[in-house]
Amino acid sequence: MTFGKVAIIGLGLLGGSIGLAIRQHLPGVKTAGYDSDPQVRLRAAERKLAQEICESAAEAARGADLVILCVPVGAIEHAANELSGALEPGALVSDVGSSKQSVSAALARALPGQPIIPAHPVAGTEHSGPDAGFATLFHNRWCILTPPDGADPEQVAALSEFWTALGAMVEVMTAEHHDLVLAVTSHIPHLIAYTIVGTASDLEDVTRGEVIKYSAGGFRDFTRIAASDPVMWRDVFLNNREAVLEMLGRFTEDLTAMQRAIRSGNGDALFDLFTRTRAIRRSIIEQKQDDARPDFGRGDHG
Ligand code: NAP
Repeated sequence: MTFGKVAIIGLGLLGGSIGLAIRQHLPGVKTAGYDSDPQVRLRAAERKLAQEICESAAEAARGADLVILCVPVGAIEHAANELSGALEPGALVSDVGSSKQSVSAALARALPGQPIIPAHPVAGTEHSGPDAGFATLFHNRWCILTPPDGADPEQVAALSEFWTALGAMVEVMTAEHHDLVLAVTSHIPHLIAYTIVGTASDLEDVTRGEVIKYSAGGFRDFTRIAASDPVMWRDVFLNNREAVLEMLGRFTEDLTAMQRAIRSGNGDALFDLFTRTRAIRRSIIEQKQDDARPDFGRGDHG
């Protein structure tokens, strides 16, 4: 492994999982962690999310050759500013943020001259905080690297090797393409889940008790997604605005077409779409990105 010491800034679900995964898969690599919340630092020390829990980002970054920012995307620039002047020359800076164009720009602004390769492990749960992390979070999940123009290919390879060692599969693409793809595979589904759960809770002629009682009809699967961290998701929508609005426009057109099909009794249109979508679900299971069991095989990890 190219990296001898990894600094993890932000010790919630993602940061904690990286620390635990390094301990499991890369026992020779040193880890230091920092979180701005003192309570999180205490809990992180108890759970040994990193070998050393530090009182500042600068202290965690001392001697680190890889620094990974694991904070909400809206907090990236602030967290990166705290590292300014404290990084080892040549230390690689990365992150795990769910949107990439705004994060890349923020990191470049805060840390000029430092090598930066943003990343996004497409792995997570609806839980957050220092108790949420687990060592196997990245197993068989994709991690997308979005190196900027001119990034050193050796550093791209080293970061790729790091994520592969944690159990992930790595793909490289531009930040622009990442934001478009993730808008449709992650951001819009979250927006739909937040909206439908909000709509159900605002209904006046169906009681909240009924919504909960009959949730197995489909609603409960949306509630899992709609339980995701409000800070994280607020920041994702504000930071991937263009791609989300573009995909939302297309979704709205398709929804209107469904509305028309139902109104005009066009069963063929409904049947054709539902058949196509079923095939997508099968492909996801075949490619081991989900589990066919009714609880999605998620067990204790939600
Ligand atoms: P989380 O569990 O809430 O952890 C983030 C931690 O960072 C919190 O403890 C937060 O403290 C801390 N923090 C905020 N600003 C900081 C700063 N300037 N310096 C140090 N620590 C700071 O969130 P998460 O789910 O791990 O998400 C972290 C990142 O991963 C986000 O960018 C998100 O987009 C990305 N991501 C999340 C998922 C997912 O499913 N959750 C999946 C892939 C990628 P406070 O709570 O006190 O602010």
